[in-house]
Amino acid sequence: MRYFPLFIDTRSASVLVLGGGPKAAAKLRLLLKTEAQIEVIAEELSIDVTRLLDARRLVWTKRSAVLNDVSDRRLVYIATDDGADNVKLIAAARAAGALVNVVDEREASDFLTPAIVDRDPVVVAIGTEGTAPSLARTIKAQFEATLSPRLGTLARIAGRQRVRRSAEGLRRFFGGVGERALIESGEAEAARLLRAFVDEQTAPTASQTGRVALVGAGPGDPELLTLKARKRLDEADVVLYDRLVAPAVLDLARREATLIEVGKTPAGPAWKQEDINARMIEAARAGAFVVRLKSGDPLVFGRADEEIDALETAGIAYEIVPGISAAFAAAAAGGFSLTRRGRNRTISFLTAHDAEGFAEHDWRTLARPGEAFAIYMGVRGARFVQGRLLIHGASADTPVSVIENASRPNQKIVAGTLGQLPDLLKQHRIEGPAIIFVGLAPRAALAAIDDRATLALPIGA
Ligand code: SAH
Repeated sequence: MRYFPLFIDTRSASVLVLGGGPKAAAKLRLLLKTEAQIEVIAEELSIDVTRLLDARRLVWTKRSAVLNDVSDRRLVYIATDDGADNVKLIAAARAAGALVNVVDEREASDFLTPAIVDRDPVVVAIGTEGTAPSLARTIKAQFEATLSPRLGTLARIAGRQRVRRSAEGLRRFFGGVGERALIESGEAEAARLLRAFVDEQTAPTASQTGRVALVGAGPGDPELLTLKARKRLDEADVVLYDRLVAPAVLDLARREATLIEVGKTPAGPAWKQEDINARMIEAARAGAFVVRLKSGDPLVFGRADEEIDALETAGIAYEIVPGISAAFAAAAAGGFSLTRRGRNRTISFLTAHDAEGFAEHDWRTLARPGEAFAIYMGVRGARFVQGRLLIHGASADTPVSVIENASRPNQKIVAGTLGQLPDLLKQHRIEGPAIIFVGLAPRAALAAIDDRATLALPIGA
């Protein structure tokens, strides 16, 4: 590490910027976030810099710089086009105790200006020692996306209370609970909550009793989680998850969280729905923040209503965080749209199977030409679905595509016709989880570009 990061106090500090062009504008925008008094010395200003002059702490001296200008400055930015030629000015500034930055001239500078993620008073400074400014921008974008816009307010609340001990209280507060209180009840309530966390003597309040989030874990690829789902995982005390939730997603749960699988294996040993409800309520009553993590979207074939009813009956607060349902990830994998003018204006999601066994549908409607639908839990019921559709007049040539493990490293795409469906699954050893689309064919070109995909084209194609 050649450059050591540090934070310089700018209260009542004076900063000098030489030059009035685009280089100066970029630095001034950052400097105006500080409390420094800023002077720009330049013969003329670009429109960008002129606009910044509205700020009270910024003054413009219209002339070229002289050696005296650099005395009593904490920072000097040389943002003229011939920056490094200002040898005497740079030497004079250093001699007067200032740190000098010659914009875009690393070797002539005493310090570099980092990329900044500003959640004042929380500031993330990112530097690459000049090697890769675009990398710094990428990292900045990542932080911008993950750090709450309210982080600064939360930090100020904690700062005012001078909370230093209670690492656990602070962790919970910053882990999402504080932000929720801030959004729902305002700053005073958030501050009160933090005091309550820190001071165990305080009686539990509504915001401290447990609550439940029904969270969509998406189809498997952790990058397909919503930011909110990530946050909830980060705050969880208990995670009750379905069998289909990908391990890569579970890895994102808070390290101290208790993870409990409450899976229902098709035709295998399974948790009963009442037991899941009971477990969820028991944990929340004990004060835990429970994340009920369901694959895909929690409201698609997830028996969410039964869990919501149970929570309401028990008087436990809950929220629902949507997720990307398997059919959406499967369509993305297959490279086709779920609806298309002139082909299908509607799309149905159906299950081949439910708690009672094979599921009946309006087969006559589904068998009509131009119908398109996504079948969830369809692998074991494929022969049943095929039989029902053919009996009701569907063409055996209707395209089908099967996407197994959509968005996961072992994703497989198989295409064929309705007439071939059960054999296709057998031949390609599709065991699920898989989405079977009827009436939709994957893009043939996909096989060539995605070596994870196996694409079996319809016979004779
Ligand atoms: N709530 C989930 C669906 C749960 S039902 C959602 O919105 O996606 C379980 C069924 O979802 C599986 O039988 C399978 O049909 C489908 N499924 C879940 N994850 C999948 C994946 N990664 N790829 C393909 N299908 C998947």
